[in-house]
Amino acid sequence: MPLNASQKWEVQKWRDRFRELKAAGLELKLENVHAIVKFMSFAERSKREPVSEDDRICYQSEKQCHNIPNLNCFVCACPNYESEDEVGGCRLASSKGKYIKTTITSDRMIWDCSDCGYGHSPNYVELFLTSNLGELKFLSENMDKFDEEGAYSLLKEAGLGIKQRKHIL
Ligand code: SF4
Repeated sequence: MPLNASQKWEVQKWRDRFRELKAAGLELKLENVHAIVKFMSFAERSKREPVSEDDRICYQSEKQCHNIPNLNCFVCACPNYESEDEVGGCRLASSKGKYIKTTITSDRMIWDCSDCGYGHSPNYVELFLTSNLGELKFLSENMDKFDEEGAYSLLKEAGLGIKQRKHIL
């Protein structure tokens, strides 16, 4: 079944993150976790040439996607985003998300996370990296071998996330 707009976006974001790390020669391994967190901060990324046109919109605009201090971009695609539903949604039912109007879905609305800081603090990203290092390394090495649908299946099978997530929200 073809991917919906939210699923395609999720695949694109993870592919971009992995390509960015590869281009910088930053391997996904424990001793690089601190370097990766720093490398993926909005402050650092906004100074660099984006790896995709999609990223160019996010990182070379004046405005951050999430208005929080020390914004970190590694977990751009939140593991709690309900991408199976084209209009999206939050598996944690966060009060910080909301539906907004859009032209990219057939229902003309989409779940918007811009007021939510979940997943975007340096501490969260460090925990996310250490909790999912093996899965992330696997995805980094294999997602580009598949078409969008195959890459999405890999992503879902990997089950990225951290167990204590409710306490971080
Ligand atoms: S960023 Fe926040 S609102 Fe969006 S899916 Fe994640 S936890 Fe829910």
